[in-house]
Order: sequence, then structure tokens, then C-alpha cells
Amino acid sequence: NADSALFKAKSNGRETFAFYSLELTNQARQRVEMVAALRHALEQGELRVHYQPIQRLTDNRLIGFEALVRWLHPERGLVPPGEFLPIAEETGLIASIDLWVLEQTCRQMQTWLGQGRELAFVAVNLSCRLFSRAGLSQEIARVLADTGLAPAHLELEITESAVMADPDSARELLERLRELGVRLAIDDFGTGYSSLQRLKRLPVQKLKIDQSFVRGLPADKDDAAIARAVNALGHNLGLVVLAEGIETPQQLDFLQQIGCDYGQGYLFSRPLPPEDIERNWPKA
Ligand code: C2E
Ligand code: MG
Ligand code: MG
Ligand code: MG
Repeated sequence: NADSALFKAKSNGRETFAFYSLELTNQARQRVEMVAALRHALEQGELRVHYQPIQRLTDNRLIGFEALVRWLHPERGLVPPGEFLPIAEETGLIASIDLWVLEQTCRQMQTWLGQGRELAFVAVNLSCRLFSRAGLSQEIARVLADTGLAPAHLELEITESAVMADPDSARELLERLRELGVRLAIDDFGTGYSSLQRLKRLPVQKLKIDQSFVRGLPADKDDAAIARAVNALGHNLGLVVLAEGIETPQQLDFLQQIGCDYGQGYLFSRPLPPEDIERNWPKA
């Protein structure tokens, strides 16, 4: 075990190495525990989907949501995805998580539409780890059929960096997904070094301007130039443009002035559990 390894190493006079290996052992143990806990979470129903409202910027009308996964840990409370998705991606558990989120979200959206809510779409994030999954589009088709949600109400978000990591297979996958009739969006746009040549050939309908470019608006000249350029690029390619991470009225004002179509951010609402969505947006 780790302690006897440390003792042995010390008696050999290799203390640095010993501390290093002890730390690695701890890290490895933490990782194994994390993976087991995450698997348990998925099986025992500790995962939750929160929904962040998306508004149309011309009239500030609620038009859809983005589904964002959370882990309701029995001791730690609500754990954000940044703390567990990286490990889920490394271990392949991400596929089960994403498909679970997809199913929950489609069911929830179908319920909301059934209540007469006028919503255009709900967006779900897809990890690049699912790109190589054989039969992904059939699985998505099955979820749509099981939940009864019309494909046009589902939007799938794929990050720009995931697309650019393997553009040819991403494009093939996106084409198959598009055949299902779902909508496609490129997430975190501006952070992934897209070649415009490749972007032009992707069958997507929406670009989401990454929040790192929204943060400095309107004062930061670089952010302002980038936001303008991405918005114009998207529109010239016939795409809808959404800005994420809108926190201030000044940012909103700038984005409205340049004609950005949609927005989401804390200014409108944080991601919320479905009960809070229903409370804050009672159906008309
Ligand atoms: P994302 O898809 O770009 O989602 C937007 C993130 O920005 C969310 O963080 C959201 O809570 C946060 N956000 C929204 N408005 C604001 C704002 O005004 N200010 C700031 N500072 N942040 C804002 P979250 O929920 O922590 O998710 C982080 C990332 O984790 C997501 O980034 C997405 O890449 C990934 N993710 C979340 N849920 C899933 C999922 O079910 N599957 C997969 N594969 N990835 C997911
Ligand atoms: Mg997203
Ligand atoms: Mg994003
Ligand atoms: Mg982002």
C-alpha cells in the first residue's frame, strides 16, 4: 500500500519519488472513487437536468431552453458539470449521461408543449465522445419516438472544438443527425479555430457566440469586434446567431444593436430546475 511504499522509498533515500508516487496513488484512488460515485449517481437518480431560458432579442420573448446536467450529490449538494464531465468523458460514462439527459429533456419538453406552452426548441449538449458511437442517430431517433417529441423541437449542440478535432467524421455525423429533422448548433463558437471553408459545409442552423467574447462587451474593443464579426459571419452563412453569457443590460443592448438573434445568460435567468421554470414562466 501507499504508506509502506513511502517507507520503502524513504529507506532507499528516494524521498522525492516516494512523495510523488504517494500523491499519484491518492489521485488514482480519488479518480476510481469518483467514477464509482458517478456510476452510482446515474443508477440511483442523483443526476438532474436544469433548463436555462433562451430569449429572442428582438422582443425579449422566451423561445426555448438549454438543458444542462447537474449532479445532486447527497453530501456535496449541487455539483456543476465542469467537476464531473471531464472524468465522465475519460471513462466513457459520458455516453450514458448524455443519452439520459437527452431522454429527460425530450420528455420534459413534450410535457411543456402538451401544456400549451409556445416553445420553439430545447437544446441538449452532445459530447464529442459520442461522435464515434455507432448507431448514435438511431439512438436519438429512438428517444424521439419514445418520448413523442417532434424532431424539429430538439436542438443538438456540438462544440466548435469537437467539430474541428475531426471535421470529416463530425460532418458525416451532423449530416445523419440532420436527416432526423433535429436542429444543430455550434457551441462555444470563436474558441475552436474553425476553418471557414469547413464551417460553410456543415449542415448547422445556429452559431452560439462563446461567452468569453460577450464578457467584455461593450467596452472591450476586441470583444466588440469579434462579436460583430461572428454575428455577421453567421448571418452571411444563413445561420441564426445566439450570444451566451449575457449578464448586463449593456451587453444586451450591444447585442441587440448589432442584430444578434437570440441570447441566454444570467441577466434573463440562471439554469433552473423544471419546477422553478414553471413557477417563473407560468403558462399564458
Ligand atoms: P455550455 O454548453 O457552453 O453551457 C453554458 C454554460 O454557461 C453553462 O454552465 C451555464 O450555466 C453557463 N452560463 C449561462 N449563462 C451564464 C452567464 O450569464 N454567465 C456565466 N458566467 N455563465 C453562464 P454549466 O451548466 O456549468 O455547464 C458547463 C458546460 O458543461 C456546458 O457549457 C457544456 O459544455 C457542458 N455540459 C453541461 N451539460 C451537459 C450535458 O448534459 N452533456 C454534455 N456533454 N455537456 C454538458
Ligand atoms: Mg451548450
Ligand atoms: Mg456554450
Ligand atoms: Mg461555453
